[in-house]
Amino acid sequence: RTNGEVNGDLPPPPHTIFDTILVLDFGSQYTHLITRRLRELNVYSEMLPCTQKIADLPWKPKGVILSGGPYSVYAPDAPHVDPAVFDLGVPILGICYGLQELAWHQGRNVLAGEKREYGHAGLQMQRHSGKQAHVDRLFEGLQDDMEVWMSHGDKLSHLPENFVTIATTSNSSFAGIASEEKEYYGIQFHPEVTHTPKGKEVIKNFAVNICKARQDWTMGAFVDKEIARIRALVGEKGQVIGAVSGGVDSTVAAKLMQEAIGDRFHAVLVDNGVLRKDEAKQVKETLTAGLGVNLTVIDASAQFLALLEGVSDPEKKRKIIGNTFIDCFQQKALEIAAEAANTPRAGKIEWFLQGTLYPDVIESISFKGPSATIKTHHNVGGLPEKMHLKLIEPLRELFKDEVRELGTSLGITYDLVWRHPFPGPGIAIRIIGTVTPEKVRIVQEADQIFIEEIRAAGLYRQISQAFAALMEGKAVGVVGDQRLHGHIIALRAVQTTDFMTADAFEFDQKFLKRVKNRIGNEVEGVARVLYEITSKPPATIEFE
Ligand code: GLN
Repeated sequence: RTNGEVNGDLPPPPHTIFDTILVLDFGSQYTHLITRRLRELNVYSEMLPCTQKIADLPWKPKGVILSGGPYSVYAPDAPHVDPAVFDLGVPILGICYGLQELAWHQGRNVLAGEKREYGHAGLQMQRHSGKQAHVDRLFEGLQDDMEVWMSHGDKLSHLPENFVTIATTSNSSFAGIASEEKEYYGIQFHPEVTHTPKGKEVIKNFAVNICKARQDWTMGAFVDKEIARIRALVGEKGQVIGAVSGGVDSTVAAKLMQEAIGDRFHAVLVDNGVLRKDEAKQVKETLTAGLGVNLTVIDASAQFLALLEGVSDPEKKRKIIGNTFIDCFQQKALEIAAEAANTPRAGKIEWFLQGTLYPDVIESISFKGPSATIKTHHNVGGLPEKMHLKLIEPLRELFKDEVRELGTSLGITYDLVWRHPFPGPGIAIRIIGTVTPEKVRIVQEADQIFIEEIRAAGLYRQISQAFAALMEGKAVGVVGDQRLHGHIIALRAVQTTDFMTADAFEFDQKFLKRVKNRIGNEVEGVARVLYEITSKPPATIEFE
């Protein structure tokens, strides 16, 4: 870990600057959403596995949330929170498994219910008065009944000592509980999912009203602190190198580095010949003229395309592109490093910029049960290790929407900040079968028309990802009076929130016709245009 914890005189990481709610993860698929909701409320939050030893935590949270999880607290191998969490003296909120865990620590009072409760449920608040009134603070400002999302099979047999019921559903007598003595709360439903419409209010009541966390986590506040941190980390002469792609993450990371250390950050763009049409040129314009980033473009398209010749296996294509990228990048990096060492500032390149985001970090530390191995996040082919470079990851605390907000505050244009994702192997995996310069041209041109029309129709933001691909084989068409044996273009546009599942976008027929006409008229060699309607699953978003 190179830019996580404090070492020496470095400015401290966010959890020591911002009031932080610690989310302990018991393996629920929703845990990261708890952290996201808190951040949306401008309350900083970090997630750690439920096995975190509290004594090893180098900072103190303002409050702790115990997440849901697939286990049953009474099972012999169930995960349990370090009991030292109860000595922190901060409020604790248990969600689902978290509620059961909270209760279990107070009296082993959880058992399997007769009925699983899954889906929507109506929550009934139970209000209190007198010296018990404070237990209602979790549901303050909310109506006496609200819709919630349930997903559990276990239940409490009875209340832990000194706890009261604050909410019920028809199936759960203990849908919400609170301690009369301490600021401990438990809820059986999931407030973090959108199926619980007022869930964010519950989370806010906990974080802001009960934990008293300040709502000062904003990208404006983050940016200044992160820039100071990068400067301290890199030192006065240190230099950093990193690859850019034209995508949101690498552009935002590059701009942040430029703000922090100017030309001592060296961005490298490898043109692999399978980028979008005019992409290298546009990235150069945006980064250099627009954002002032010190950028070197390597035009290696001929080299990539030569190596791809005759290769139709997608895995092989990916490997070739990945390995050639590493070779090109490394060679350029050595040149830049040699040059940098000769400048009067004479700093060595010691750092490698990587656009790791918080979901990657979460993925690598999520609690997956006693037997699961912890997955580490892999960077581009182990380049930093190979080149003996240390990692610098200025976005590793941020979610994607925060990166977009950060990009906007750094002056990056709306269009770039909301750009659709583009795969590393690029158009090579959007051409089924072998890749030739001719096929690349056709896909690039068709893709550009499709995206132009999507933008013109005002649909770009509604669509999560859209592109043109080339099918294998040819079809017959007639152009003018001539029979044409031409290529088959498939258009794909999907809507998704997390890219794990996706639906094909429903264009109206007129729109598709317009795109088909333009591709037919403007792109030479196309005989057919198809619109692909498979959802994910069973399909993936890309074709290969
Ligand atoms: N396994 C527990 C139950 O079934 C908790 C479920 C959860 O946290 N979603 O009740």
